[in-house]
Amino acid sequence: MEKESIRHDIMNILSSPSLKKEDIVPILKMDSKEEMDTLQSLAMEAKRENVGRVVYFRGLVEFSNVCRKNCFYCGLRKGNKAVNRFRLHEEEILSAAAFAHENRYGSLVLQSGENQSEEYIDFVCKVVRRIKSRYDLGITLSCGEQSEDTYRRFFESGAHRYLLRVETSSPELYGKWHPSDGKHRFETRLDCLRSLKDIGFQIGSGSMVGVPYQTYGDIAGDILFLRNMEADMMGIGPFIEHSGTPFYRSEAYSIPQEERLNVTLRTIALLRILLKDVNIAATTAMQALDKFGREKGLMFGANVIMPNLTPAIRRKDYLLYENKPCLDEDASQCNNCLEARIACVGDAIGYGKWGDPPHFFRRVNSPSFWL
Ligand code: SAM
Ligand code: SF4
Repeated sequence: MEKESIRHDIMNILSSPSLKKEDIVPILKMDSKEEMDTLQSLAMEAKRENVGRVVYFRGLVEFSNVCRKNCFYCGLRKGNKAVNRFRLHEEEILSAAAFAHENRYGSLVLQSGENQSEEYIDFVCKVVRRIKSRYDLGITLSCGEQSEDTYRRFFESGAHRYLLRVETSSPELYGKWHPSDGKHRFETRLDCLRSLKDIGFQIGSGSMVGVPYQTYGDIAGDILFLRNMEADMMGIGPFIEHSGTPFYRSEAYSIPQEERLNVTLRTIALLRILLKDVNIAATTAMQALDKFGREKGLMFGANVIMPNLTPAIRRKDYLLYENKPCLDEDASQCNNCLEARIACVGDAIGYGKWGDPPHFFRRVNSPSFWL
């Protein structure tokens, strides 16, 4: 089919006011060169018009792998006894913040396993306050499910963004991906997202692509969910196996590993075209499947990259999945490599800027509520 008619078909489908999962599935399956090229150029047009051809860096600090959860897909799950558990010292996190500041990254993401102890919560609040008192960095937290009171304390300490992927928008699938022990409830995940939004955080959410039992219809459902919940930032990444988890070599894959990167790219493109002025991350998991995975993400509409600032010595202990890239590179090596990679894509780097998503400001100025 001609690119012009593919383009016309895609836009026709996506502009329908009653867009449904079934309408999105054929686009998620478009895999010919003409179709991929067309999706890419539509996504790049939407990116240029709504957020500009600028990539923002968020320095990622994986500050603890201690986790109370047992998600079936994740290498950090509590049941994986082979993990060497750690928590970074405050000074190590502050050094990473200093690096981000000196290299004009603009923002920092502090991520960890899920820990609800008072000691952990106090630690996070203290570290956020310290960073904010020293540097003009935007701070995103990704610390899993917490009480509304804890989220409020995080916000009051100075964090203004929170990443909590819904993982999947299907309650049934959520049940298949997590133990039914009362600690892994889909409803709790939604309640957390609502609390974060009420408190005033910029909300990052997202899902994985290619987890056992997941169908294209489920991924289409995730896209609509993210649109309906009015998330400001998206993290979409391919699922990658880890031998210390129940989902290692599962029989239940509907999307084989070699297709996961392309399906992720099409998902990112659809999110960019539909949601327009949100931030979308080109995730490390994409790079784990393809050494140019993140650059491809930028070419399909992503505008955020999270260079890893975790001390190199600790990275091997923060393995959500196997073959995680850049395990033994220090932050300055990653920096040089990233600059060259982004230059190849043709985007500029938003040095020294927080890079908040325009979507957030539009949302708070015209409040619409979800769920
Ligand atoms: N513990 C927090 C949470 O779960 O929200 C934050 C850290 S968790 C490691 C961050 C994200 O890693 C999860 O939201 C999940 O989507 C992703 N993840 C976990 N295991 C993965 C895997 N095997 N492949 C790809 N992504 C994975
Ligand atoms: Fe823990 Fe997050 Fe991994 Fe689940 S995804 S096991 S909550 S680190």
